[in-house]
Amino acid sequence: MPQLLAGKTALVLGVANRWSIAYAISSAFVREGASLVLTYQGERQRQTVEELGAELKAAKILNCDVTKPAELDGLVAELRNLPGSLNAVVHSIAFANKEDLSRPFLETSRDGFLLAQEVSAFSLVSVARAVAPLMTSGGSLTTLTYLGSTRVVQNYNVMGVAKASLEASVRYLASDLGKHNIRVNAISAGPIKTASARGIKDFSKVLDNVASLAPLRRNTEPAEVADTAVFLASDLGRGVTGNVVFVDAGFQTIGIGLGE
Ligand code: NAP
Repeated sequence: MPQLLAGKTALVLGVANRWSIAYAISSAFVREGASLVLTYQGERQRQTVEELGAELKAAKILNCDVTKPAELDGLVAELRNLPGSLNAVVHSIAFANKEDLSRPFLETSRDGFLLAQEVSAFSLVSVARAVAPLMTSGGSLTTLTYLGSTRVVQNYNVMGVAKASLEASVRYLASDLGKHNIRVNAISAGPIKTASARGIKDFSKVLDNVASLAPLRRNTEPAEVADTAVFLASDLGRGVTGNVVFVDAGFQTIGIGLGE
């Protein structure tokens, strides 16, 4: 079978470790022939991401905290040195204070609310603005979202509001960038056990609930999310923009399920 991303260069932001959704996406991109650029956030993550990047034969591994404009500028400067244009970008980044993912949403602080919005939603806008000029032959920008944007998922709280903002940003960015043939989409993944997810109170109960009620009667595999990211980054996805694509074993369709 031909490789779906042969000849394409992809930037993936958000690999923290082997369990990160961004790692599964990076592996699938490499399998499909993409040349890969990874980023890590600060010295704490450097060694792990460099080791994973070496395994994946990444062309570059760069530091980038998306809340720091100087680091985004540095990332763009490095990307300009790559041969050819940038074809695909994956934004797999989110953050909220742990206490805002356990107490009632009503108690969310102003700082906690703004922090979640800045890292988890505004960063898509700043990343898009930074990388779009490098996507001279068009391309695809994909972010990761969750059902908590439109439905109440207990304890997801401030992150659900940030994901609502992220999904609206996808639509506005798709509108702005479409004339440059740059597509912008979100994948709404079912719950997956990762470092970020473990910060959400009672996350394992969410996994059990989904496995019993989802049409496919199981949880989502990172590799399933990754294969959809391949589709969106590839020419097969050329007509898809401004969308939220659910990769969640069908859970989003369920109103009242009895788990039979
Ligand atoms: P993860 O492995 O913890 O990935 C989150 C990434 O965001 C980490 O690499 C983290 O880096 C990075 N990050 C946080 N703040 C940053 C900043 N200021 N600058 C740059 N990077 C920053 O968890 P994940 O579950 O794979 O999350 C990836 C995306 O998928 C997130 O948007 C998440 O909301 C979404 N998602 C996850 C699930 C799920 O159930 N796991 C479901 C749907 C959607 P550090 O580790 O260095 O902080």
